[in-house]
Amino acid sequence: MIQSIEQLCDLVELSPDDLPIAFDTDFPFKVPKHFANQIEKGNPNDPLLKQILPGLAENEIYPGFSPDPVGDLAANPHPSLIHKYHGRALLIASPRCDIHCRYCFRRHFPYEQAKQQHWQAALESIAQDPSIKEVILSGGDPMSLSENALIALINDIEAIPHVDTLRIHSRTPIVAPHKANRPQLLKTLQQSRLQKVLVVHCNHANELTSESAELMQQFRQSDVLLLNQTVLLKDINDSANALIALSKKLFSQGILPYYCHLLDKVSGAGHFEIKNAQAWAIFEQMRQTLPGYLVPRFVEEIAGEPYKTLLTDPSSQGIKPTT
Ligand code: SF4
Repeated sequence: MIQSIEQLCDLVELSPDDLPIAFDTDFPFKVPKHFANQIEKGNPNDPLLKQILPGLAENEIYPGFSPDPVGDLAANPHPSLIHKYHGRALLIASPRCDIHCRYCFRRHFPYEQAKQQHWQAALESIAQDPSIKEVILSGGDPMSLSENALIALINDIEAIPHVDTLRIHSRTPIVAPHKANRPQLLKTLQQSRLQKVLVVHCNHANELTSESAELMQQFRQSDVLLLNQTVLLKDINDSANALIALSKKLFSQGILPYYCHLLDKVSGAGHFEIKNAQAWAIFEQMRQTLPGYLVPRFVEEIAGEPYKTLLTDPSSQGIKPTT
């Protein structure tokens, strides 16, 4: 783990004096060494660096941006459970992440309330609702739990008869693959009666390495379906070329592109936003270039809506695209 911004600057051969760094942010800087090692040395505009370096732009106020942009708190029957969508419930498995992404939509979420002792209440709530078929482990990052704690949680979920699918949302396999390489967890997943999905979070082709490829192979051998979600971020991956390269590299590691999220309007992240018209133009170019299975769904999450909203052509007044 990189301990400080100064240590990161040393590693990437940049001077902190030349960068617009916010040292006094309430969402602390955090990055694993593996991710930092993929940053191009001497490049202040590196797309990975921009995702993790706290910038002065975070202090700017943008209209429409708020601490809880997707309505998590209103859909929060227990401190660890978010039940927004039919058939699925999301369990906050851990308040921690191995990395702090500056655009994180939960950067203001009251994680301290989502402690392990609340799991029991959340699991009981799931057990009492037979409409819940899929449990999503999210966070924070579930892989920041110890291997034993994560296995115990999976076993508890498996014991609920009406649950048939386990989905794990994690950025750890990309940003710190060695940490997600857990033999007992892989074995548990392989032996589980549940259908298993791992949704990783990767925004740029440069994040994918030989280590992530090796790990993905192990998850595949454990009968886990691999999907990716990306966040569309200004000056990081806001071009068709960047996202086409990402889709191709994901596929080479056995991962299918699932979602490309428009930025959730969380306070402190306004400088990452791109307009819907630009997002649509990128989507169109991707559709013209790639087979359909390599084109992610471009979506936005609107608080209170019963499912994610597909991006539409801003010039066609609401006709939904097909993929
Ligand atoms: S890994 Fe996900 S939850 Fe954690 S800081 Fe990044 S975006 Fe937020």
